[in-house]
Amino acid sequence: MEETKVMTEEKEGAGVSKNFIEQAIDKDLAEGVYSHVQTRFPPEPNGYLHIGHAKSILLNYGLAKEYGGKFNFRFDDTNPTKEKTEYVESITEDVRWLGADYEDRLFFASDYFDKMYECAVFLIKKGKAYVCDLSAEEIREYRGTLTEPGKNSPYRDRSIEENLQLFENMKNGMYKDGEKVLRAKIDMASPNINMRDPVIYRVAHMTHHNTGDKWCIYPMYDFAHPIEDAVEHITHSICTLEFEDHRPLYDWVVRECEFEEPPRQIEFAKLYLTNVVTGKRYIKKLVEDGIVDGWDDPRLVTISALRRRGFTPESIRRFVELCGVSKSSSSVDYAMLEYCIREDLKLKQPRISAILHPIKLVIDNYPEGKIEYLEVPNNNENPELGSRMVPFAKELYIEAEDFMEVPVKKYFRLFPGNEVRLMNAYFVTCTGCEKDADGNVTVVHAAYDPETRGGNCSTRKVKGTLQWVAAPTAFQAEVRLYENIVDEEKGKLNEDGSLNLNPNSLTVLKGCRIEPSAKDAKPYDSFQFVRNGYFCVDCKDSEPGKPVFNRIVSLKSSFKL
Ligand code: ATP
Ligand code: MG
Repeated sequence: MEETKVMTEEKEGAGVSKNFIEQAIDKDLAEGVYSHVQTRFPPEPNGYLHIGHAKSILLNYGLAKEYGGKFNFRFDDTNPTKEKTEYVESITEDVRWLGADYEDRLFFASDYFDKMYECAVFLIKKGKAYVCDLSAEEIREYRGTLTEPGKNSPYRDRSIEENLQLFENMKNGMYKDGEKVLRAKIDMASPNINMRDPVIYRVAHMTHHNTGDKWCIYPMYDFAHPIEDAVEHITHSICTLEFEDHRPLYDWVVRECEFEEPPRQIEFAKLYLTNVVTGKRYIKKLVEDGIVDGWDDPRLVTISALRRRGFTPESIRRFVELCGVSKSSSSVDYAMLEYCIREDLKLKQPRISAILHPIKLVIDNYPEGKIEYLEVPNNNENPELGSRMVPFAKELYIEAEDFMEVPVKKYFRLFPGNEVRLMNAYFVTCTGCEKDADGNVTVVHAAYDPETRGGNCSTRKVKGTLQWVAAPTAFQAEVRLYENIVDEEKGKLNEDGSLNLNPNSLTVLKGCRIEPSAKDAKPYDSFQFVRNGYFCVDCKDSEPGKPVFNRIVSLKSSFKL
């Protein structure tokens, strides 16, 4: 709670912490460059969104809201090779879940193919674009290098009439893929390689998920994107740093196409996280190689994986807010994301007992067959969550690690002769244990003090408090624990460029014992399991009355804000 207050004060305090994008927008508005603010989130539907995209979504949506402007959600679906409807659906679900309300402002760049074609014809007519017959390889050779200028294409000086005819032929399917391209006529000697007559249209005989077989020519990203922005009257086109060198081309396209109030591109640094894999290319490989259980495997940081793992939109918004916006790339500690979900769930979710590695505890002086109900607060830091009745019985389960026949130093849990508190229940004193033929402890015995009901005692103190569940009423469940999917210590990548995977990223525990209050939990419900962390009901593998739990995060962390 305290941290929230600090953050609010910072935001409200005399404009202290406006980021560089807000400053640029303020300036544009003050100088009358734009009269309003309009932003967009333009994903390419070639994979699922990840935490980095969440940053971009919330940044763009947040700016539109802050300036009373509009926020567009646009699929940048101009490249039919990798795009799929499955991705369109998952991306839409993720954007809505994050709470970026785009109202009725959902667009598809492919709906502007006619406009893009028109722009290309307009450029040809202005003498600013030409059809080129060089092969892809030749174009690369002619382009020059960072230190040497490029050479003009022999086709650069074709007449406007010839270019118009050839471009129309391209559109009409008269050429094979790669046989001809349309190029912007800019400057082959430009110090910026992106300006050396970039290709703006290519022939590709491919079916598009939206426009079907209507087109066999498709615009290149650097030509299509500025037009999409301009058509939608975007003012500030916010993208990541790798497009910085493309900005002159962006500006060239909107200027030469003569758009009024052309949009302005502003770049910020991508969000990278330690210990996880961001980047669609890597995530896709993990999915395709079957290393993870789909794009929403809880070890990933796709938005659907974070949702499945039990993260909330609030926690992700908070995280993005804490990350801030910057011009220089750096990695954010994954522990900060964990911090945000802990903070969010701490007061919201009930704290219940779950025994992950169960061992039986028998209270020998407790009546056989009796079950009594103890009133337990649902969250002792938040009385608003009320209380529930928790069954107690002669046979219980406790965590195996909470008993040691021969205690190590400073061990305050159960060992013969030691008294501990069973949380919210009774004080019990350990009387011994049973073992199997191999010497493994199978049952622990104890005696309880009926005077300590509720776990309170005015005459003596104990150092250990253990969680427990009553054996006759607890249910069995599968629980999954996670570690980082990549071994960050040794570096994310192996020498051959493959990911350095952590073999222990998933641990599946069967036969955990959970208190009955969670038996009917539904997908995405989450809980604090006392001493074990925060857990969420898996949305794929749970069945009614048979929840499977994923650990969102453990309780402790060395992370400090
Ligand atoms: P990836 O690099 O993961 O494959 P991408 O940039 O190819 O992602 P797009 O669908 O093209 O994915 O991106 C949509 C928007 O999200 C773009 O504006 C892009 O700049 C932004 N974006 C992508 N990755 C990040 C990131 N790590 N941090 C912030 N914004 C990002
Ligand atoms: Mg991309």
